[in-house]
Amino acid sequence: MSLVSTHTDTANGADNIVGPFTQMSQTVAKFVWNTAATNIPQDLEWEIVLLTLAIAGLLWFLRGGHGSKGVDGRVRKAGLLQFLLPKDIYTHASARVDVWLWVTERIFYPFWAIALLATVGPATEQSVISVLKWLFGNSPELHSNLAWMLLYSLVTLLCYDFVFFLTHYAMHKVPALWALHKIHHSAEVLTPLTRYREHFIDGPIWVVGGAVSYGFAAGIFGFLFNGGITEATLLNLGFFAVLFGFNGSFRHYHVQFHYPVWLSKWLQSPVMHHVHHSYLQQHHDKNLAVFTSIWDRMFGTLYIPEVDEYTPWGLGPDSQSEHQTFWQNTTGPFRDWYKMLRPRASRGHRSEREQS
Ligand SMILES: [Zn+2]
Ligand SMILES: [Zn+2]
Repeated sequence: MSLVSTHTDTANGADNIVGPFTQMSQTVAKFVWNTAATNIPQDLEWEIVLLTLAIAGLLWFLRGGHGSKGVDGRVRKAGLLQFLLPKDIYTHASARVDVWLWVTERIFYPFWAIALLATVGPATEQSVISVLKWLFGNSPELHSNLAWMLLYSLVTLLCYDFVFFLTHYAMHKVPALWALHKIHHSAEVLTPLTRYREHFIDGPIWVVGGAVSYGFAAGIFGFLFNGGITEATLLNLGFFAVLFGFNGSFRHYHVQFHYPVWLSKWLQSPVMHHVHHSYLQQHHDKNLAVFTSIWDRMFGTLYIPEVDEYTPWGLGPDSQSEHQTFWQNTTGPFRDWYKMLRPRASRGHRSEREQS
């Protein structure tokens, strides 16, 4: 059977539209299971690392050695090697902790992906198709062309970006979630591995967001075309894997990569994530989306930095010492949750005593 053939054999062809996520879920589950079984963190692609280094090398040339930041988050002039791979950043304790947090997160990630991507994705997709069928009747069975496929990619990107923005917003504003997300922000230096610096129980939250957004867009377009978009969905996912890979790597790199200000109002440039990792008051909770600046603009969290703006990374002098080692970061959320519950108990105890 052809990969793109998802039409059913029912009389009107629209009774039982099978969306691409449902069709792919088995393949994804098998692929993810193989990854989990081999247990090797393997998603930092060499091509993306080389592309990051090549663009950084070009910036070094164009700016005459300026434009990379040191451990303190200040811009400094450097020779090519120190510009691309500065010793003080890559031998920093924070960069070593990145490695161990990456390994731990990669070990757990496939299990969340099996459990959620293959269930939440198809469930969202089928729900969207059912609602659209209820609202509009049978599929209009549109014929897909390049323009429709580009629109499908754009809608998927906006859905993903919006769900990412909302999830990230909640991670910053809800104290119990901040206790988890803080591990990403406890990085004192930025390296391409920092993007994977997450607590291992963070995985399900991000995976559900991805599955819901991809499933939502796939449901809409699966309905419009009466299925038949599995190939386009696979291309879409491949496109996002590359975009996400490059974006994630350069966002977490000490070299500043600015876009012109007008473009930064629409797309997040990598240096805008330097701001997100800064502990300065004016940088708190800014630039929360991943690809576009649209949602940050709408919710008032957009911050476009000046060229060479000072961005000291980490949690800041007050709480950095509690999140320095791998062990501190791994146990951090549990300690924070315990502290959140304990004062309430002691407050209750105090008020009891005050009453008596
Ligand atoms: Zn954040
Ligand atoms: Zn980050």
